[in-house]
Amino acid sequence: MDLDFDRNHIWHPYSSLIDPPPVYPVERAEGVRIFLEDGRGLIDGMSSWWSALHGYNVPELNAAMRGQIEKMSHVMFGGLTHEPAIALCKKLVEITPAPLRRVFLADSGSVSVEVAIKMALQYWQSQGRGEKCKLLALRNGYHGDTFGAMATCDPVTGMHHIFAGQLTQHFFAPAPQVKFGQACAEEDIAELRQLIEQHHTQLAAVILEPIVQGAGGMRFYSAEYLRRVRELCDEHGLLLIADEIATGFGRSGKLFACEHAGICPDILTLGKALTGGTMTMAAALCTDRVAEDICRGEAGVFMHGPTFMGNPLACAVSNASIDLLLSGPWQQRVASIEKHMQRALAPLKDTAAVADVRALGAIGVVEMHEPVKMMQVQEALIERGVWLRPFGKLVYTMPPYVISEDDLGQLTTAMVDVLGNL
Ligand SMILES: *Cc1c(COP(=O)(O)O)cnc(C)c1O
Repeated sequence: MDLDFDRNHIWHPYSSLIDPPPVYPVERAEGVRIFLEDGRGLIDGMSSWWSALHGYNVPELNAAMRGQIEKMSHVMFGGLTHEPAIALCKKLVEITPAPLRRVFLADSGSVSVEVAIKMALQYWQSQGRGEKCKLLALRNGYHGDTFGAMATCDPVTGMHHIFAGQLTQHFFAPAPQVKFGQACAEEDIAELRQLIEQHHTQLAAVILEPIVQGAGGMRFYSAEYLRRVRELCDEHGLLLIADEIATGFGRSGKLFACEHAGICPDILTLGKALTGGTMTMAAALCTDRVAEDICRGEAGVFMHGPTFMGNPLACAVSNASIDLLLSGPWQQRVASIEKHMQRALAPLKDTAAVADVRALGAIGVVEMHEPVKMMQVQEALIERGVWLRPFGKLVYTMPPYVISEDDLGQLTTAMVDVLGNL
């Protein structure tokens, strides 16, 4: 591969073109392994950023894509419709909490967040309440890289502070401190309550990642906290947007993380694992009330419609991915990954450089006291046959659910070896 060309001409995520870090050339991927050009096979502990939950080169997903290609890869969604989209939206309505019955298919996670925000704004505009246009988000939150989404990311850790002057100014509550599994005291929610009480006349919605704050800190918080947020939204007539782009499809141990708290948001975003890690596709679901109020407003329609909306190929493979997930023992797999990670990563708790070790569902996190030297840690893990991408102080893994006990052992052993000897 022409790595010189890559280095000089191609942006990678959050990369420099003056001083680009090395990238590893990949030839193919199979099962839970990514195979480099030089023949080395690496266990993918990242599921290609939460998405490849069945691993790679999955026969069922390949068959769905091949079958769809023979019919049509794409047609516009304006004025046309097709079976893959109808089947997918039916499934999404069925498997998400019951009140979420209206589906918007978007082209990426960030776009689905834009769509969710626009839904919330249009909902209030329709009612003549255009002043309700601000959002309340949580610190340590992450909702994507486009402008609307960026404005809801943690203003400090959210990676987007250099655009701060160009972003809509929203309100931010402290990150939930009360951990997953713990009861939520009044003081844990006090500041959020205060912000809502103070600003609800300007607020359209609260936006959060339920239970697991992902890219903004890999933090797991109390289900009761989430329930309290839902109650506060109800008390003050605010919409709740749950961003399940990372947590959706079983990653946290429940099919959707909202289920830990037994709540239903007014708007839900899905992405990442939706297509089983094969293509880009996302969705924003909303309740009848939100959809109907939007459409009764001045515009009479919901004002969004991307070129590749409802892409049949992405819909077909999403259908196959969801079927494959739900027809298998995903709960047991995710539960046993959680157990394994809790046990296998526990020795790191005694390492001086390690601040915290935690696991929830098929997510394992080692938080260091200091930012890790990413390239050095990555190289050491690769020598042990493992692919991870540490970020700041966080070295974390969310492997495909189909990972074997042996491969999971190799993955966690590599983490313990490398991080235990930093
Ligand atoms: C990844 C992510 C997004 C953005 O999705 P993209 O497909 O990268 O645009 C938004 N919200 C959450 C919670 C995410 O994890």
